[in-house]
Amino acid sequence: MKFDYDVIIIGSGPAGFSCAMQSTKFDKKVLIVEASAHTLGGSWISKGTVPSKALRAAAKLIQSFNRQFGDEKGRKPFERYRMEDIMEYKKPILESKNRQVKDDIIKNEVETVRGWGKIIDANTVEVTNTLNHIKTFTTKHILVSTGSSPSIPKNFEIDHTKILDYSSILELTHIPRRLVIIGSGVITIEFATIFSALGTRVVILSDLPGILPFLDKEIKEYLIGIIKSRNIQIFNNSNVTKIATNDLRTCEEVYFKTAGDSRLQVVETDHILYVGGKKPNTNGIGLETVGIKTNPEGFINVDNYFRTAAPNIYAAGDVIGQPSLASVSFLQGRIASSHMFGSLSTDYMMFNKDIPYGIYSIPEISGIGLTEEMALELGLDVTIGRAYYDNLTRADINHDTEGILKLVFRTDNLQLLGVHILGEHATDLVHLGQSVMAHNGTVKYFIERVLNYPTYGEAYKIAAFNGLNRVHKSGVKYKKVLDRAD
Ligand SMILES: Cc1cc2nc3c(=O)[nH]c(=O)nc-3n(C[C@H](O)[C@H](O)[C@H](O)COP(=O)(O)OP(=O)(O)OC[C@H]3O[C@@H](n4cnc5c(N)ncnc54)[C@H](O)[C@@H]3O)c2cc1C
Repeated sequence: MKFDYDVIIIGSGPAGFSCAMQSTKFDKKVLIVEASAHTLGGSWISKGTVPSKALRAAAKLIQSFNRQFGDEKGRKPFERYRMEDIMEYKKPILESKNRQVKDDIIKNEVETVRGWGKIIDANTVEVTNTLNHIKTFTTKHILVSTGSSPSIPKNFEIDHTKILDYSSILELTHIPRRLVIIGSGVITIEFATIFSALGTRVVILSDLPGILPFLDKEIKEYLIGIIKSRNIQIFNNSNVTKIATNDLRTCEEVYFKTAGDSRLQVVETDHILYVGGKKPNTNGIGLETVGIKTNPEGFINVDNYFRTAAPNIYAAGDVIGQPSLASVSFLQGRIASSHMFGSLSTDYMMFNKDIPYGIYSIPEISGIGLTEEMALELGLDVTIGRAYYDNLTRADINHDTEGILKLVFRTDNLQLLGVHILGEHATDLVHLGQSVMAHNGTVKYFIERVLNYPTYGEAYKIAAFNGLNRVHKSGVKYKKVLDRAD
């Protein structure tokens, strides 16, 4: 049977975009259906990854400038800088990314259609545009990459004016003086440190016993120290019961209780940012017509190649659930395409092995592989090597001396098992460790190679020496320590 397309992709975010690009490399005919009338690239470009990182970059610049040059009148950043200027910083970045995605799509001869995509049967997608005009297209394969949306809180309503979600906060037209963030994960810590750098007084109400439960314990303690030094307050185990406007005091009041304390507490603020979970964009896209199964939270179930229960229909990106990252979605889309067209072995991609995490807080946090606690739980004999940023010449030069890089390696053969970093450029730095780990390398790599100087990468060398010294001090002669990896 002849179809209009080899693959129709519903949603142009990282998963859809990468599936389209990969499919054109296999000389396939591709159509992307995108619901947004103006943008391509999904929340990656318009609502999530890129705009929040642009806001971070602007806040970091302001923070560095303020630290270096201060203000003789002691004014806070929000009294010196305007959100309008920060928005101007962000605007050209988003425009250029949008243009780039569009150019790539055109260059690679991918067709696009604007409108709401819905699966009618296993080989047909219907597209309804904003004028309610309907077109149908036939296809051999379908990729569902419709992404996710912010989840909705139970005890209050997001009005996108005072009470914001992680998308509407990026549209704020002023820098708030006070901000309450309800959440405990990555986005919470990113926005908390970004707004704190802009002079905002931030309070975090976390419903968990702590923040970022997956972090290496030592890195987390270091982070909490930084957070406290920035006057960011955290209330753990808290449950928000109500949010009300106090017209007299022209503020919002957030009422909450913490576990084990029956008192109702209240915090006054200008804005509230709610960062609950994500919900998959699966409503009204016709999953039920082709028997596609979802898990109890509504995310689409897929196999290792991102196939759904319908054999020619794939799903990738946020719509299938964790880890819900642009970085991961890009690879998922490629694997799905590779599997559809059987042209590339996907085994080498080692997809689920050692995915790094990156947190774009100020400073950044990143890591890969085993934490110290995980290694001990597995009963492994590991040694830890540490480097502190205040020992790095480059960090000194840049006045970025807050931070630590931590290596976890096997004591018997020095094999690198994990890298955990808190400090500037952590999200880039982690990839050096990732490469060594991917080749089953040892920490000797860092002391036997010339690394550029001064760089943040020097931290690897210092941490490797630090860890090897520790093995030496435990009673193994230094020469023997180095012989271990040969
Ligand atoms: C504030 C924030 C910061 C983030 N920071 C990072 C980060 O630093 N690093 C990182 O890796 N990830 C980050 N993420 C996560 C990242 O943005 C997402 O994981 C990623 O965008 C998911 O890609 P996707 O392709 O699944 O979907 P999306 O990017 O959400 O794209 C889905 C697209 O599908 C379209 N669509 C939906 N339904 C239909 C339909 N029926 N028909 C047609 N089109 C439809 C939507 O309009 C949208 O364009 C962040 C997210 C947020 C919110």
